[in-house]
Formats: sequence, structure tokens, C-alpha cells
Amino acid sequence: MTDAAPYAAQAIHHKRIVATLGYGVIALFLLSVAISVFYLLEHSSPPLVFAIYGLCVSLYIVLTIVFVRETRKQMSLWQQSIDENERLLEESRAHNDQIYVAAEIARDISALNDLDELLQRSVQLIVERFGFYHAAIFLLDEGGDYATLRVAAGTTPSSAALVAQGHRMQVGGVGIIGYVTATARYYLANDAHNDPTHHANPSLPETQAEMAVPLTIRGRVIGALDVQSQRLGQFSTTDVRLFQSLADLLAIAIENTRLSQAVRQQNVDLEEQVAARTSELAKANRELNTILDAIHEGLIYIEEGRGRYVNAAFTALTGYDLNDVDVPDKLLAHAIDLEENHAVLADVSRSYHHEGFWSRELRLRRKTGEEFDAEVTIVAVRDEKGQPVGALTTFRDISQQKALEEHKSRFVDYASHELRTPIANLKTRLFLLDRQPHKFREHIQVIHSVTARMQRIVDDLLTISRFQRGLITLDTVPIALQDVLEEVVNLAAHDAEQKGLRLSLELPAEPLIVTADRDRMIQVVTNLVGNAIKYTKEGHVIVRLVRQDDQALIEVEDSGVGIPADAADSIFQPFYRADNVAEPGHGLGLNVSKHIVELHGGRISFRNAQPQGTIFSVALPHRESAATS
Ligand code: ADP
Repeated sequence: MTDAAPYAAQAIHHKRIVATLGYGVIALFLLSVAISVFYLLEHSSPPLVFAIYGLCVSLYIVLTIVFVRETRKQMSLWQQSIDENERLLEESRAHNDQIYVAAEIARDISALNDLDELLQRSVQLIVERFGFYHAAIFLLDEGGDYATLRVAAGTTPSSAALVAQGHRMQVGGVGIIGYVTATARYYLANDAHNDPTHHANPSLPETQAEMAVPLTIRGRVIGALDVQSQRLGQFSTTDVRLFQSLADLLAIAIENTRLSQAVRQQNVDLEEQVAARTSELAKANRELNTILDAIHEGLIYIEEGRGRYVNAAFTALTGYDLNDVDVPDKLLAHAIDLEENHAVLADVSRSYHHEGFWSRELRLRRKTGEEFDAEVTIVAVRDEKGQPVGALTTFRDISQQKALEEHKSRFVDYASHELRTPIANLKTRLFLLDRQPHKFREHIQVIHSVTARMQRIVDDLLTISRFQRGLITLDTVPIALQDVLEEVVNLAAHDAEQKGLRLSLELPAEPLIVTADRDRMIQVVTNLVGNAIKYTKEGHVIVRLVRQDDQALIEVEDSGVGIPADAADSIFQPFYRADNVAEPGHGLGLNVSKHIVELHGGRISFRNAQPQGTIFSVALPHRESAATS
């Protein structure tokens, strides 16, 4: 791969000499011929002409000899020129091949986007296509102090081994790589052993020539491409140019790969961050939904006039879901009358924009059409500029609260009413006692019975209140229900007999044991049997005990007036008395009984008896036997 000498120029220059000689030979020949003609025509020519003729012939002969010699030399120069041209042509072809190979390498590596693969493929292709002993790429570390051997390939296994050893050179230190990376200039050592900069590597003993070119990006050195050959004088300046171009392309590919790797890594990081954030958001969302769904109050979030979220309680309360509340005022429009609706919406709109808060009790209507009372609160959700962007509306069902309040006031009304009658009776009797001292016994007896009644009412009221406040505790023990029923029936037998009723008791053979407060159970059964006798004019009262699965069932059946269908829901409410009864009573007994039974974990209910009358049932959890307590 050495440079060629210009033989062609020499040949062109020599051609002029040969041509001049040729013209000389021709001129002398023509002169000789002319003299010969002259001589023949004159016959007697003077000796001078003869002498000139002789001189011309001699010169002609000499010039002809010189001409032939120079012509030969010219031929040889032409030949050399042709040879030289052929050699140059050959070299040019080889160079073209190299350029082609370099382009091929550049094309191959530009398709790769993994840095290690790119570097490895580059040195492999260089070694394969150019047939070098060793090719390597050094890259500078982050600080730029060292050039580390990243990849190497060659005809010797040592090339790869050097990479594994973590071979690295100091920038500006000894050796060709140190020089190239420090100066950003190529270095050519065509006689490596006698080169002052070449630093012999024991792993590459056959190196005779070495060339290194810098890898630079915008003037900044990022590494070096190093090739080594086993042939002395292997590299020409053309090779340097070629490899520098290749190195420039390689540097761009390395930079691009690094950038694309960085971008890919950034993408991966970003994706990870997005995934983590998404999962965090999803978790937060789930948590928020769980919290919102756990809230008992109905909740709807409205944005830009559309419902964006409703919680489970909202749907349970109103029957509407997110699809139904596309027009958020649908609920209101359906719930209250049109005039009030307009006023409410205007008020909501004003408060929403000014105070950002609105709250009021409203009578609303569920999807089913059923009405209910709710406390509606609207809170404006604002953006960072403080502008309202959405409305969070909560609906608290206050129907029960209202019913309770109503119930309480009714309770007080009833209680006062119930007490007013005996108090009036009492006052009358006291007045009569004063006027009729001789009827002392009669009046005192009535006073006793009236105060006893008042006592019962007050006791029951107290009991109900204590039940409601959870103050009553049971003194439970295993008891045989047969005993309880027998005791109550025995006590009631006299009253039944007085009214001419048949009072009977039906008991199972096996004792039915329950864990219960004996006195409270007697109170319940006494109330049921007492009512049955009270509200039955003729016929029978049957007290029954049966075992049903894991329950003990007490039934009190009568053939009395029965309970009207419209009273079914209220019969266990305090002070409730059905319209079809005229017998005295104050409507507290069943309520007390219900509290007692439920405190035992049982259930009290009633149904109509056939052909007439009522059957009250008390179901209690059953124990196998007293011993299992
Ligand atoms: P009271 O009997 O003192 O009125 P209760 O609470 O025991 O109070 O009963 C409430 C109401 O239930 C009674 O007023 C009556 O209308 C109805 N009731 C209870 N037991 C019977 C029954 N066996 N037959 C018909 N109606 C009954």
C-alpha cells in the first residue's frame, strides 16, 4: 500500500528528445540525398561539396545510432509508465475495495442500536474484511482520564482475552492510544518495533505495524480505533484517511447508540414511573372508593353538569346510578314540586358560586317514586385559581331520625294521655272521699287499683326506656320452658275461668331447655296469655310449646278478636292499641315483650288463627340440655 512514482511524466519528457533526434536524422538524410543529386548532375564537383557530403553522411549515421538508442530508452520508459499505470490502477481498485468495505462496515453497524453489539461487530468486520492481525476500540471513561478497551477482535485469541482483563490506557500516557486520545490525532507506526511511541503488548507479539485514529464527536475525543498488522509498512496515508472516516462514522454511531440507549432507558424509567404512579393512583382511587362506599351518606360528584361519581350509598338511597344522573338536577326535579324546585336550584347556584356551600333539608323522591327526607349538602370543589369546577353533594337520609322524633313526641303524648285518665280518676276519688267519708273503703279500693294501674304504666315506661338505653341486663340460667308455661297458665287459670274460656296447655314430653332470664320469660308469657284472655270473648286459649329445629317455640293461640291487617306493622310499638279492642290497656306490654325476647336472641311475631283469633309466637334458641350450659 505504498505511493507510486511518476514514470509517465518522464516518458513524455523523453519523447521530445527522441522526436528532435528523429527530425535531425531526417534532415541529414535529405541533405545527403540533395548533395548526391547535385554531384551526379554536375559531374565535376569541387572537393568541398564532397567533404560536406561526407560530413552529412557521417552525422546522419551517428544521429541514427543515437536516435535508435534513445528510441529504445523511450520504449522502456513507455513500458515503465504502462506498468506504473497498471499498478496505480490495481492500487486504486484495492482502495475502492477498501472504501466499499468501509462503507459496508458503516452500513452494518449503523443498523445496530445496542452499543456492545455495535462495537463488537465493528472490530469483527474490520478484522474479517481487511485481514488485520488485531483491531480494537477504546472508549474514554466518564472522567476522560482513561481509555478502556471495550472490544477487540483478531486472528489471535489474545485479542478477546485483553478485553476480559479490563485492559485500559491512560489518556496522554505511554503508547499510541495514550497519544491519540490525548491529542485527537492519528498515529501511524509502520515499523512498530522501532517506533518510539509504540508500546509493545506481550499478548500481541506478531504486531509489525500499528495505526490508531481518534473517535471524536464535535471535536471531543470519546475513544480510539486501533488496528495492528503483522506486515511491516502495512499502512499508507490513504489508509489513515479511510480509517479516520470510518472512525468518524463509528463515533457518530456510538453517540447515536448511546443517545438512543439513554432515550430507551429514559423511556423504560418513565414507563416504570408511569406504571408505579398509575398503580399508586389506582390504589389511592380504590382506597378512596372504598372510603366513599363505606360512607353511609349518599354522595355524588358533579362536574360540568354531569355526574362523575356516585357512591354505593347514593344508589342504595335514591335508586339512581351514574347513568341516571346525567342531568344532575333530575333527582331534584323529580323530587320536589316545580316551583320550589326553581327556588332551590336558584339558591343552590347562588351559594355554590359565592359561599361554595349549601345545605338544607329536602323531601326527595327515589327512582321508585317513594319519598324520603334528606339533608342535602353541596360543597363546591375549586380549581387552583379558586374557581368552582365541580360540586360534591351528600344526601343524608333523615327519614328515620324524623320518624324517631315523631315517635318520641307521640310517645310523650300517649304517656301523658294514659296518665291523665288515672290521675283524673284519682282526683275524683279523693274528692269523693272527702265528701263521702262513709264510703271510705269503696273509694280507697278504687284509689288502690288506679294507683296500681299508674304504677304499671310507669313501670312499663321505665322498663322500655331502660331497654332502649341498653340498661337492662338479663340474669340468664338454663331453664325448662315447661315449668315457665305451667306456672303462667296456673296463675291465669282463674281469669280464663271467670270469662268462661278453655285454657289449655300443650307440652312436649322431653323438657325444652333454654338459657334465659326466668322472671323476664314469665313476664313475656304472662303478657301474651293475659292479652289472649283479655281480647277473647269466648272459645279457647291454647298455650303450646314445641321444638322446631334448633329453636324452642312458645305459641299462645286464642279465638279472640284478632289483629287487623293495618295494625300488623305497629302492634309492637309502644302505646299502640288496635281499633278493634275496647278492653282497658295501655299498649306497652307487647313492646316490653319484644325487647325481652330480642335481648334473649329470640324473635316474637304473630299470625292469624283459624277460623278466628290470633297466634303469638316466641322463638328462642334452644339448648340440648341443662348439662350443656
Ligand atoms: P295492651 O294490651 O295493654 O293494650 P299490649 O302491648 O299488650 O297492650 O297490646 C297492644 C295491642 O295489641 C292491644 O291493645 C291490642 O290491640 C293488640 N293485641 C295484643 N294481643 C292481642 C290478642 N291476643 N288479640 C287481639 N289483639 C291483641
